[in-house]
Amino acid sequence: MSRFFTPTLAALEPYTPGEQLAVPGLVKLNANENPYPPAPGVAAAVAGTIEGLRLYSDLTEAKLTAAIAARCGVPPQWVLCGNGSDENLLLAIRAFCDQNTPLAFADITYSFHPVLCNLLGVPAHVLPLREDFTLDTAAYDALGETIVLANPNAPTSLLTPVGAIERIVQRNPDHPVIVDEAYVDFAGPGASCLPLVAKYENLMVVRTFSKSRSLAGARLGFCVAQPGLIADMNRVKFSYSPYNINSMSEAAGAAAMADEAYFQKTVAAICRTRAETTAGLRQRGFTVLDSATNFVFAAHPQHEAAALCGALRQQNVLVRHFTAPRIQNWLRVTIGTPAQMQRFFAALDAAMG
Ligand SMILES: *Cc1c(COP(=O)(O)O)cnc(C)c1O
Repeated sequence: MSRFFTPTLAALEPYTPGEQLAVPGLVKLNANENPYPPAPGVAAAVAGTIEGLRLYSDLTEAKLTAAIAARCGVPPQWVLCGNGSDENLLLAIRAFCDQNTPLAFADITYSFHPVLCNLLGVPAHVLPLREDFTLDTAAYDALGETIVLANPNAPTSLLTPVGAIERIVQRNPDHPVIVDEAYVDFAGPGASCLPLVAKYENLMVVRTFSKSRSLAGARLGFCVAQPGLIADMNRVKFSYSPYNINSMSEAAGAAAMADEAYFQKTVAAICRTRAETTAGLRQRGFTVLDSATNFVFAAHPQHEAAALCGALRQQNVLVRHFTAPRIQNWLRVTIGTPAQMQRFFAALDAAMG
């Protein structure tokens, strides 16, 4: 830190992303990226934007927004795109929290939330998950705070039923409830809160192209809410980064949205591999939570997670281990291709001896 860094941010602790090593033959199961390439139409769509790159991108992302709105069954005015859903989470916290309006979230969830609170000077109200990592919905009754919930949650992989989330939305009518659905496409039908958006003016659903659409590097997310919340988000967006979506990413996102068959096929493949991975880990004595995501969360009664993570790394297999309280003995393993998971299990067997 230089002596010029502002004292208000001196205590800032930046987010630690999953390692991005560039080693040939690496099996990268540490950042919940999709193992399959983007939809086949993405390449031509991105190439088609090159000539227009001398111009600024479309401020309203009209093409992409239309594709998202059609897929989600909402009017385009209910959609706002972001430079990754990380940006939409930032816009939402900036818009709906301040020194006097804390952000409430679980103790074990996306670890970006406390970082954003720190950056933006927003008090964090941390509510512990139950012992079994399920959401203690009653703890969210009439909080008087803005709430963010990842559903399915990360890194636990657990899904909270829509009915329980709806209750939280109903019990906090005067505050926004932001539901981060980064993994919902892997959770099966009926898992999303999207159908509730028309019913509640305080509900915002946040989605991303990073996981189920194989576009993590394009940095593209979107949120869906009634026009009031979207207008507030736009006021913040136009106060710092009006051209937040670049033309190449917009084209990539629209092409990915257009290919429903490819999306269904790749999501189904990941869900099949997830079932096999879960079974393989349980056979080896791991406790594995029932995953509704593209990763599994697992712990072994005899083998320390940190040691396993290190031994896998030595064999060029990256998985994620967290040092936070309560989850120190757990591993988060992204679901890769069947071939990658074979390499993972071979390395795991060697690590376990
Ligand atoms: C991966 C992930 C995101 C996605 O972030 P992007 O900025 O869209 O890549 C959002 N929330 C959670 C909980 C995630 O795990």
